[in-house]
Amino acid sequence: MASLEEQLVQLYARLAPRPLASGNLCGSCRTCCTSGGLSRQNVTDLELSLLELRHGAEVASNFARYARRERDASGVYLFEVCPNLAPEGCRVYAERPFSCRVFGHYRASGTRLPDECVYRGEEVAFPPRQYYDVVPGALRLRELSRDFQLRRPPTGAAGVADQGGVGLNLNDPWDRALEQIGQGKPVELPAKKEGEPIFASYVRAMVLGEAGQHEGALEHYRRVLAACPERADLMTFAGFHAFQVARFEEAEQLWLRALQLDQANPLTYSFLGYLYNHREEWQMAADFFGAAAELQPDQPVHQQRREHALSQLLQA
Ligand code: SF4
Ligand code: SF4
Repeated sequence: MASLEEQLVQLYARLAPRPLASGNLCGSCRTCCTSGGLSRQNVTDLELSLLELRHGAEVASNFARYARRERDASGVYLFEVCPNLAPEGCRVYAERPFSCRVFGHYRASGTRLPDECVYRGEEVAFPPRQYYDVVPGALRLRELSRDFQLRRPPTGAAGVADQGGVGLNLNDPWDRALEQIGQGKPVELPAKKEGEPIFASYVRAMVLGEAGQHEGALEHYRRVLAACPERADLMTFAGFHAFQVARFEEAEQLWLRALQLDQANPLTYSFLGYLYNHREEWQMAADFFGAAAELQPDQPVHQQRREHALSQLLQA
């Protein structure tokens, strides 16, 4: 299967020359390539990854800072003008982000194009909530970007929706499902489709897991992990479901692999403790519960489990 960056290139290709107007109608206008022209520019991490692949890390990093409209300590823009803008035009034109491509052609109602924009009066205005329905390619970019985000270990409470990711969109069935799970509501999922986004499998795994359908949850986690081999946290969850359906070796492999990637998750140690408890490998169980206790000293259950395993060891 093509990489996500290759799929992004295919998406860009589908946008040109139709349905967006082709040719350089902008002439010498560069307003939307300057910090003053727009307050900020939404660019996903997947698009930055493509820029990095084709133009190097510095180009991608500088563009990300420009897109965020970063300022120095005295409040001056770090990049008054897009760092990709050369006298002859955009240096990364073939890989310019989606927002550069659609600007001028589409406009969220309530905003206005710059006075000098040649597209003024020709653009399609849309209510902000209908962005994904109206702007061609926006939904596909969202799907690809969300799968890209999923591959990365979560870096904060925002998880897959961190900076550079894609925000929650409650018109989207997968996001809606996530919110419903969070609120403890019954979840309705779309019918399963061949080749659906990895994010869809991730949501299915969570929904089935919540419903206690461990075999189904495990199956979807397997697909997610095949695409996201760095997600130690998801390996830990997948191992839990494997354990629940007595696939003990698979659970052990998943948890040990998760520990290779992340030694700071007490849940993984604790699950391994339960596994070795189950196998009556008491010393191992005690060691893993002990490791969980060290990481989470405020959770007495780890220490209690460790002491129980040690007492079993003495009786053995
Ligand atoms: S990447 Fe290219 S098109 Fe986009 S803002 Fe920069 S110079 Fe303009
Ligand atoms: S899209 Fe509009 S504002 Fe941007 S460079 Fe073209 S004419 Fe200028």
